[in-house]
Amino acid sequence: MTTDSASSDDHSRKVERLVQGVQTSDGAGVRLTRVLTQQLQRRLDPFLMLDAFRNENPEDYIGGFPDHPHRGFETVTYMLAGRMRHHDSAGNQGLLGPGCVQWMTAGSGLIHSELPEQADGLMEGFQLWLNLPARDKMARPYYRDIPSESIPEFVTPQGVRVRVIAGSSHGVAGAVQREHTEPLYLDVHLPAGTQFVQPIPPAHHAFTYTYRGTVLVGGTAVPDRNMAILANDAAGQVVVKADADARLLIVAGQPLNEPIAQHGPFVMNTGEEIQQALRDYRDGLFESAKVQSL
Ligand code: MN
Repeated sequence: MTTDSASSDDHSRKVERLVQGVQTSDGAGVRLTRVLTQQLQRRLDPFLMLDAFRNENPEDYIGGFPDHPHRGFETVTYMLAGRMRHHDSAGNQGLLGPGCVQWMTAGSGLIHSELPEQADGLMEGFQLWLNLPARDKMARPYYRDIPSESIPEFVTPQGVRVRVIAGSSHGVAGAVQREHTEPLYLDVHLPAGTQFVQPIPPAHHAFTYTYRGTVLVGGTAVPDRNMAILANDAAGQVVVKADADARLLIVAGQPLNEPIAQHGPFVMNTGEEIQQALRDYRDGLFESAKVQSL
């Protein structure tokens, strides 16, 4: 037995399956990869969607996401490169640049736009949708723009850089904490020849998404632009390693185990609640929503 047995692949959650996602476009013609699709919503409850975008060609992003509504969940936008400006129906606005996060709790609903503020260059990032428990779906909407420098970070003795967007890691509390779903959202940069161990409660659903290089997750190679769904086995942690420089997201959360009813940008628990959302949208209730900026 070696002293680092606790960080061996035998002590890691295993990869249950790799997912490459679906190439699609959304908004006004933004090319993106829908990594977490509707078919995976139960398996990865409380997460509803993950979109990854990495576009060099302005034609693939310049249209952005003009005015659209949301109700019943949270959107988490993490920018790696490029600038995106958002406006909402209550008159709030903000600019997301490289390394910034927008955490928006749509709750009872709002209308907003997300538009690129650049004419060329790389636009890269992610949008994750996190469900709200039934009791919070009609809560007052709010959002937080979190500048890159306000996202807690640490570097391990091996030189692994970890940005803690939500939850906590190695005693470092992330920028956002949420009860009920208890999301963990890490951006992990592994230099060649390093490894990183992250505790995750066995009942929490978890996945990784490699966005540079190849990462060994519990001993399985997970290449660039691949999601790895982690088995809910008894291991209380995931062990990730890289032979060459690599980067990945580690995401986990406590399942809500509530019914999911989705119609486009509305995610509720029942079909009747979806019908109500459509009526409220038609009747202009979303346009007059009071949205708090924290
Ligand atoms: Mn949106």
